[in-house]
Amino acid sequence: MGTGAGKKREHLIKPVLHRQYPTASYGQGVFLYDEQGKAYLDASSGAVTASIGHGVQDIIDAMAEQARKVSFVYRSQFTSEPAEQLAQKLSELAPGRDYWTFFVNSGSEATETAMKVAIQHWQEQGRHGKNRVISRRMSYHGITMGALSMSGHVLRRRRFVPLLADYPVVAPAYCYRCPFGRTYPECGLACADDLETAIRRIGAEHIAAFIAEPIVGAAGGAVTPPNDYYRRIKEICERHEILFIADEVMTGIARTGAMFGMEHWGVEPDVIALGKGMSAGYTPVAATMVKDRVMEPILQGSRVVMSGHTYSANPQSAAVSLAVLDYIERHQLVQAAEVQGRKLLERLNRLADKCEIIGDVRGKGLLLALELVADRESKLPFPAAKGVTSLVIDKAFEKGLLIYPAAGGVDGAGDAVIIAPPLTISDEELELLMRLLEDTLQEVM
Ligand code: PLP
Repeated sequence: MGTGAGKKREHLIKPVLHRQYPTASYGQGVFLYDEQGKAYLDASSGAVTASIGHGVQDIIDAMAEQARKVSFVYRSQFTSEPAEQLAQKLSELAPGRDYWTFFVNSGSEATETAMKVAIQHWQEQGRHGKNRVISRRMSYHGITMGALSMSGHVLRRRRFVPLLADYPVVAPAYCYRCPFGRTYPECGLACADDLETAIRRIGAEHIAAFIAEPIVGAAGGAVTPPNDYYRRIKEICERHEILFIADEVMTGIARTGAMFGMEHWGVEPDVIALGKGMSAGYTPVAATMVKDRVMEPILQGSRVVMSGHTYSANPQSAAVSLAVLDYIERHQLVQAAEVQGRKLLERLNRLADKCEIIGDVRGKGLLLALELVADRESKLPFPAAKGVTSLVIDKAFEKGLLIYPAAGGVDGAGDAVIIAPPLTISDEELELLMRLLEDTLQEVM
């Protein structure tokens, strides 16, 4: 609407300027409703966030109760009961337990803090050269400069490349289009060994950490590694004295049918980044969890983790996150993600049988994706100019179905859409999801 005469000017910077977005009016369960009363089945939980659904009264009550006590205290002046309890609870839930937690407000801050803590861990031991973080070409770890430096998401990096740290990258574990043109298990996990090759080339004395999403989200679409990939990765990291950071911002807190994604492979990360599902969207909160042994040199040294934000360890956000964790446990949503995820995966595979633009169906729990191809036999991706992901997402939106885009373009990847409904989704709602999705794909084909 811009500045044209007679037109109401806009002030809010939206994702695409001047695009018309419906105004959300309210949410209930897996549905969002706009001002006109149109219902949208939230099959992506927003950005894979609203994992317990919308409008849950228990969370609203917990929020109000904490607000009546105290909403804000500054972390260098006070601690608070909810923040202390949440740190303890997360440590009890995490793989291998025994973590310290630093609270932040977004997934980007969580991965960036993870990077800083890893570097500080080595600095405190006098190993100042260990200051780079290796990541994978197909990855998204966040939008702030440090997080973007570790991300392979080409579209989000492109404008800022001169300002980003020149960190090394290695091959992704992307079996559908193996970067080495091989097949598991004959490949011998060449993608994991690529990390070791990079470490040898650069020198472990220059590397602080390796960061990976247990299952790649926005940069690939639920790209799930072969079974023994993470065990090999952890073993390589340990052998070369490099910390392993698991970016669980999308996979964390029940989404994949385990409380933490890394549980599927029995690996204990040195540092974990959490976000999204931690508060299921009820408030902005995220966390960097640091294993005791990684904190040790800091506790023995400066005793200050050099990070922090005004809203870090905010009692209001901590109370909300505690209530969300409690809700997930009481309603057994880890199991629900596994059970409903299996049903949805099976339905998506059946859909792929009759829908030739679906090249691959993948993911775990309720973090699933479809990779869309122009030709299934040759796995030929759609030309970028066709913008097939946007076509599908926009068509689904018209029909009242929300799904989430994953960017292609890295390592020859095509386009993918993520399907990740709230973990509370019922069988009837799954049926509706599938009906709307099938109608959408039939129209796009
Ligand atoms: N890490 C992963 C794996 C993500 O999926 C995202 C967001 O999509 C981020 C980090 C960044 O989180 P935020 O958008 O909350 O900054």
